[in-house]
Amino acid sequence: MKTAQKQQDEFIARCRRAGLSVTHQRLAIFEAMMANGDVHPSAEVIYHSVRERYPTISFNTIYKNLETFEALGIVVKVNPLYNEARYDVDVKPHHHLICRQCKTIVDVYDKKLDALPAPEEAGGGFHVENWTVQFTGLCAECQPAVATG
Ligand SMILES: [Zn+2]
Ligand SMILES: [Zn+2]
Repeated sequence: MKTAQKQQDEFIARCRRAGLSVTHQRLAIFEAMMANGDVHPSAEVIYHSVRERYPTISFNTIYKNLETFEALGIVVKVNPLYNEARYDVDVKPHHHLICRQCKTIVDVYDKKLDALPAPEEAGGGFHVENWTVQFTGLCAECQPAVATG
């Protein structure tokens, strides 16, 4: 597990390499991402977290920065299954369990899934580079709730 300090150092180095200035706001957005990393936060979650320190920051600023971070490979977007994009601070290949009820996203690390054979004929000469397996269903908490209606 990387330390928060190391992650922050990497973030700063990455911004600099991309010619992006490391503002207090950008750092706050990154810190909010890391603090909420476990839940694969939406832009909305990041927004509420950053606003505690920067009450005047706009949602649009958060959103634009997240898009920039994504372009730089600092975060990855979990496939937008449920309209609202969710961000993942773990950019290494891994897989997800997604609860269709409460939209909880849980990381799955499984070498077998990493080693899935890519389709040999991916249409039109498409070259597969990586993949994420998403298992959708109901988490333990949601199963009784759904069963009893
Ligand atoms: Zn659930
Ligand atoms: Zn993840």
